[in-house]
Amino acid sequence: MAEIKETEATEARGLNFVEQEVYADLQAGKNGGRLNTRFPPEPNGYLHIGHAKAFCMDFGIAEKFGGTCNLRFDDTNPVKEDVEYVDSIREDIHWLGFDWGDREYYASDYFPQLFDLACRLIKEGKAYVDDQTSEEIAAQKGTPTVPGQHSPYRDRTPEENLDLFIRMNKGEFPEGSRVLRAKIDMASDNMHFRDPIMYRIINHPHHRTGTTWKVYPMYDFAHGQSDYFEGVTHSICTLEFVPHRPLYDYFVNELADESYRPRQIEFNRLNLTYTVMSKRKLLTLVTEGLVNGWDDPRMPTISGMRRRGYTPQSIRNFISTIGYTKFEALNSVSLLEHAVRDDLNRIATRVMGVINPVKVTITNYPEDKVETVNMENNPEQADAGVHEMPFSRELYIEREDFMENPPKKFFRLAPGSEVRLKGAYIIKCEDVVKDADGNITEILCTYDPDTLSGMPGANRKVKGTLHWVSARHAVDAEARIYDRLFDVENPAAETERDFREMLNPESLIVKQIKVEPFVAENARQGEKFQFQRIGYFTPDYDSTPEKLIFNRTIGLKDTWEKVQKK
Ligand code: ATP
Ligand code: MG
Repeated sequence: MAEIKETEATEARGLNFVEQEVYADLQAGKNGGRLNTRFPPEPNGYLHIGHAKAFCMDFGIAEKFGGTCNLRFDDTNPVKEDVEYVDSIREDIHWLGFDWGDREYYASDYFPQLFDLACRLIKEGKAYVDDQTSEEIAAQKGTPTVPGQHSPYRDRTPEENLDLFIRMNKGEFPEGSRVLRAKIDMASDNMHFRDPIMYRIINHPHHRTGTTWKVYPMYDFAHGQSDYFEGVTHSICTLEFVPHRPLYDYFVNELADESYRPRQIEFNRLNLTYTVMSKRKLLTLVTEGLVNGWDDPRMPTISGMRRRGYTPQSIRNFISTIGYTKFEALNSVSLLEHAVRDDLNRIATRVMGVINPVKVTITNYPEDKVETVNMENNPEQADAGVHEMPFSRELYIEREDFMENPPKKFFRLAPGSEVRLKGAYIIKCEDVVKDADGNITEILCTYDPDTLSGMPGANRKVKGTLHWVSARHAVDAEARIYDRLFDVENPAAETERDFREMLNPESLIVKQIKVEPFVAENARQGEKFQFQRIGYFTPDYDSTPEKLIFNRTIGLKDTWEKVQKK
């Protein structure tokens, strides 16, 4: 008997609708009070955040009610599947904090049992071999209001069907020449009951079973049975499977009795703005080189988000915020980004990096002098401590933080104005140096030596505070600044245009930046930094001590929303 871990659950309060259904089944003692879910990815691509929503449910509900969750690779189509995907799927689920222990299964493990069941159904007159092309079969299917037509092969004898099916699996017939269909009802209101295809011939080696099989089961024939063979009690999936459910039950009925029967429950998919979730489209982006691989930080894949610097916690928080319902919706990526900022704000180390540097010379500061100032590592954490940062006569600040002819209320640096350099002195702009084209190459300032922390003028107020790095000590780095992959809100809804045309041409901008030495010293994989006033950054996988490369995970503010409101 699965024990109910959450005390509140005893009142079924605070549970989402799937949890309520599961809870009711446990209370009713169904399946001997067992709870066993499964996450069934097809290893034909990397997992995306939509899959994360699915497996947070599958593993989460098992955890919540003391059940178990299987990882089952739904490897029924050898043409599209690969071990690379199997490995990435394992890594991504682990990264999000879930574990299936020794409960790793493959639909291909059940090929023998599925084949036996198919043979039994043939013998019982419940399945037949159809020699028609897929086009002919489709043409006979009818519409929801018009019944389908019987295949001319529908009344073959069980003996002939069995002989043909066995020969299909021996490789005697070419791909596409024959299929095995369930003999159900060509007039059914449910289109899935109109003699659905159970098996097709595929002449492609399978990544696990090699060339043993020449026929492969279709999803509808494999899924429910695999659930049954594994002892799955709750098969939780997305809403597009609602019309498949009667067929799921139909095939399960061929195996199950009252003592144990898996049950399908559906929830809404995760759809995100400014991206696509279709694995086929994501694969196209990868194979056509429109992104740099499945883990490109612009991809909605879990591996892309990891590389970009998103945390597992932020993804899980986002998923629990959007929740599970029975209605399809489009979720704003801003919500995800909010969750990412929230978590990074908590954990990221505060540092200085200048993205678009312009030089500042403090003319009244001694040439060889170097001072060290202390910078707080993280004001959100009491014990995060400080790190040292060098200050000297020549600095870099952000080019956007200076204006020669500023509008009113420009509180950053301008001729004659004062700003505080974060954690250091107040400086005043005295003059600028320009090149032949009139571009500013250097800003000449003076500093007020009385304004460092601990000095009498330490608390002197000026309106602006800027980030900076010491020119002599700064380390060069590359910053990869990411924006949304698509520039339309819902690319999947734009059926008139090819989705490639909707890619945002500015989704990746590379900048040469300057970072304080502490950043270079701590640029380990997985490290999270907040470049103050700029955003959150993390070292990219390509980063080396010789060539530092940072991914901008996300800006500090949601600049996109502002742009849209204009
Ligand atoms: P396809 O079947 O077209 O290859 P898929 O995205 O459905 O693509 P699967 O590997 O079959 O890929 O998905 C595994 C599980 O993840 C399924 O149970 C599916 O319902 C769930 N899933 C897939 N996409 C989403 C999504 N956007 N939101 C929530 N769950 C999803
Ligand atoms: Mg699927």
